[in-house]
Amino acid sequence: MQNGEFETEGQMIAPVIEEARRLGAVRITGVKIAYYFVCKTKLWLFSHNIQMERESEDVAMGKMLHEERYRTERKDTVIGGLISLDFVKYGDRLEVHDIKKSRKMELSHRWQVLYYLYYLYNHGIDAVGIINYPLLNKKEVVEAKEDDFLKIGEVLKDIENIVLGDMPKPMRIKICPKCSYYEFCWG
Ligand code: SF4
Repeated sequence: MQNGEFETEGQMIAPVIEEARRLGAVRITGVKIAYYFVCKTKLWLFSHNIQMERESEDVAMGKMLHEERYRTERKDTVIGGLISLDFVKYGDRLEVHDIKKSRKMELSHRWQVLYYLYYLYNHGIDAVGIINYPLLNKKEVVEAKEDDFLKIGEVLKDIENIVLGDMPKPMRIKICPKCSYYEFCWG
């Protein structure tokens, strides 16, 4: 038997690990949809499991808001292991609720909820989205139109291309100083 004739265990398993990473990166969650509309670099970093301290602080803050204000609602409904709804309400039509701290990222919040509606629609469920801003005492109703679903289809393909490619070069935008990846991009 000559050197190099057989693959080592590490060499054999490497493609499997690579494929698992690839599948993890392209698993499209609501957060990834929101990041797509905020910053492609952020989307890429998050998709590759690079998370910074402030990200988890934000998550903790969101959780606290959720628990304090919406104690009586059904919480954290996870569907298909992919979309995580803050809470839902059943009635003539299913209401999908999302909770946000501020309206600064309103556009990305809207697309995140539209993605939930798209996902449910593709599973035969007609729903309406409600974005709750408890600190502002405001709610926004999100109704999906056909064009929105077409756009989501394009966004999903684009996200896959982005996360499977090289990290997009950071572009300085207004929210950078508040972003958890600030030091990573600009430190
Ligand atoms: S710091 Fe700016 S460029 Fe870097 S990930 Fe955040 S938003 Fe994007």
